[in-house]
Amino acid sequence: MKIAMLNPPHRYGQDTSQWITVPPQGYGGIQWVVATLIDGLLAAGCEILLIGAPGSTVRPGLTVSAATTRAALSAFGPDVVHDHTNGQLLPAEPDWPAVRTHHLNGVPEHTANGIYLSHAQRRAAGSADAPVIRLPVNPDRYTYREEKEDFLLFLGRVSVHKGARDAAAFAEAAGLPLKLAGPAWEPDYLRGILTDYPGTAEYLGEVGGSHRTDLLAAAQALLVLSQPFGGPFGCEWIEPGATVVAEAAVSGTPVIATDNGCLAEIAPHVGTVVPVERTPTREEAAKILAGLPTPAYLRATAVERWGHQVIAAKYLEVYRRSLAGGTWT
Ligand code: UDP
Repeated sequence: MKIAMLNPPHRYGQDTSQWITVPPQGYGGIQWVVATLIDGLLAAGCEILLIGAPGSTVRPGLTVSAATTRAALSAFGPDVVHDHTNGQLLPAEPDWPAVRTHHLNGVPEHTANGIYLSHAQRRAAGSADAPVIRLPVNPDRYTYREEKEDFLLFLGRVSVHKGARDAAAFAEAAGLPLKLAGPAWEPDYLRGILTDYPGTAEYLGEVGGSHRTDLLAAAQALLVLSQPFGGPFGCEWIEPGATVVAEAAVSGTPVIATDNGCLAEIAPHVGTVVPVERTPTREEAAKILAGLPTPAYLRATAVERWGHQVIAAKYLEVYRRSLAGGTWT
């Protein structure tokens, strides 16, 4: 099958002269999803055209186009167009069957043939019937490690809604250092954490490459203490898909998460869920850490549930439905 993948064309945070590539050099939630899905679709024998990610690496079966969307689509002649850009790159009336994965919160501008990352995200978008397909992970892109080091990890945007401060509070209760990795676009928020948890929180900046995968593999646990407030543009934040959960699990690292959005659906398989806005006592934190699943179980679970080939097969079903003229919202 020939699939055109539309990726949101964003500039790289630390060096705005560069594009965020697929896969990304550092932070890049949607770009990692697109990269991993492409891995799975290429393995299934598909031919892919990637639009909206200049500088990405071309591989057998994958073409990266810098032409305008319609010209590139016409030259490629896709069976299906898969939009990840919330309509930004998808022509208003595409000449090809199109499906759209929604990566954000709230009601999307274009709901035709949408795909959601969790039931919580779909519910908030007002859809009852659209497919829910989890975010994929490619185990070959991660390091698996059984022996862990004495630290907890936060990996993501250092923002209120991602619960970075809550992660520091948890780590302090657990008596473990917290490594905070990710872009800090709210410098006052980061400064507050480092001031209030000086012996616990260490900020590493944005990480990529083997630094990122080594951190994911070495941590005792990944803290995903997402909060249902403080989201972008002041919105209520419902964690849509949380790529980091599968990334940690495939590295053999358990996840300690709140039940915000998708986390209530996925985190219990690879870790545990704790209440929003409540820091555990020392005893509670110790008990949580002692009760987490083993690395081997975590990796096997991640591959079985969210492996790139499993998720690509689910997308292929949806592409076929769209090719057969199926419509849904
Ligand atoms: N990430 C990264 N470097 C960083 C921080 C995050 O590569 O310094 C990656 C992380 O591994 C994940 C993505 O960025 O693949 C963030 O996606 P997620 O779905 O967890 O969060 P969101 O898209 O909501 O920001």
